[in-house]
Amino acid sequence: MKTQHDFECDVIVIGAGVIGLAVARELQLQGREVILLEKNDAFGMETSSRNSEVIHAGIYYPAGSLKALHCVQGKHLLYDYAKDRKIPHQQIGKLIVATQEDELSKLDHYIEAARINGVHDLKRISQSELKELEPCVQAFGAVISPSTGIIDSHALMLSLLGDFENAGGNFIANSPVHSGRVVSGGIQIQLSDADQSLILAKTVINAAGLNACAVARSIEGIKLDSIPQEYYAIGHYFTMSGQSPFKHLIYPVAGHGYLGVHVTLDMGGQVRFGPDIEWIDTVDYAFDESRKQRFIEAVARYYPEVTSKEVSPAYTGIRPKISGPKDPSADFLIQTAAQHGVPGLINLLGMESPGLTSCLSVAAFVAQLKP
Ligand SMILES: Cc1cc2nc3c(=O)[nH]c(=O)nc-3n(C[C@H](O)[C@H](O)[C@H](O)COP(=O)(O)OP(=O)(O)OC[C@H]3O[C@@H](n4cnc5c(N)ncnc54)[C@H](O)[C@@H]3O)c2cc1C
Repeated sequence: MKTQHDFECDVIVIGAGVIGLAVARELQLQGREVILLEKNDAFGMETSSRNSEVIHAGIYYPAGSLKALHCVQGKHLLYDYAKDRKIPHQQIGKLIVATQEDELSKLDHYIEAARINGVHDLKRISQSELKELEPCVQAFGAVISPSTGIIDSHALMLSLLGDFENAGGNFIANSPVHSGRVVSGGIQIQLSDADQSLILAKTVINAAGLNACAVARSIEGIKLDSIPQEYYAIGHYFTMSGQSPFKHLIYPVAGHGYLGVHVTLDMGGQVRFGPDIEWIDTVDYAFDESRKQRFIEAVARYYPEVTSKEVSPAYTGIRPKISGPKDPSADFLIQTAAQHGVPGLINLLGMESPGLTSCLSVAAFVAQLKP
């Protein structure tokens, strides 16, 4: 094994998903010298391109949580950024619908939870108002969230990468991080590329998504009990052919730890249903087509016409969770040496939804941390 490093830099960011890209961009724009390492041969091939592409309003997350804070701040930053850079996006609004009468009281809870998080524009609407807005949706009532929207996540990541590289940042694909250790002058990162490269950096940001806990554990000297167990929860998406009958995103009242099979629209107006949830042991994006009937039943609760439509498999995404099925809604976990004991290292763990919405806010937050 080599002992001398091959090159040195100021900051290494591990993982070129939307969070790693946003953090690398922010630090590079602030004048740091950043290398962004990605194991795949391109950026954004994992969770950041396998999600609902929704700009969330900030409704569901516990008051005072990092998810609530970064979702609400991130939403505003993201709309401004998307407008400025002409990234395809649309603030189309979302309806949370009560498919059973006893869910109506939950709608009021959403309005209150959102208000506490600083989101003041949610409004209760009646069954007849809902019929006017979405004639094909059946429910007892709804809440409308006007600030919810959709964004082209690939265009967003491409723009973040463009900013990063234009500012002098260095993106290196096909560079899987194997491990790291503290040495004089910083943290030495060992790649498992053909050359077994060694890179020395003063600061390392671990934004490795589904692998972030494993990458953290691979850093010699880290307090292992500070790194949570990782869990994976897969979600499937189906598409519906034909023109969209929906003008808004349609969500049922949320289930235990996830938002329920909802209707999203992509920037081309294609209707997608999903995601469902299943806990899995390894990262495997295989699509289980046998779920179709259950999917149709879930959507038919608020959109009965789905039973006569053509519904086809689309893709899966895997939630990078740090809490299991019994308590599935852990907060984002952003750690510095104070928690894990390795000077110079920042871990971004459990960056599940609303991570896409939050990316610019998380980046600004991470950039001012003292690792
Ligand atoms: C089904 C689903 C739906 C979602 N819907 C939404 C939504 O509508 N709105 C929203 O705001 N959020 C949503 N999210 C959450 C959002 O997609 C994530 O929070 C976000 O994409 C996480 O980005 P990331 O950069 O942390 O992770 P990733 O995109 O997974 O990026 C991590 C990167 O690290 C790389 N990597 C891993 N290990 C290594 C290594 N050892 N060396 C080098 N590179 C490595 C990976 O290849 C990957 O490119 C959803 C998530 C899922 C799963």
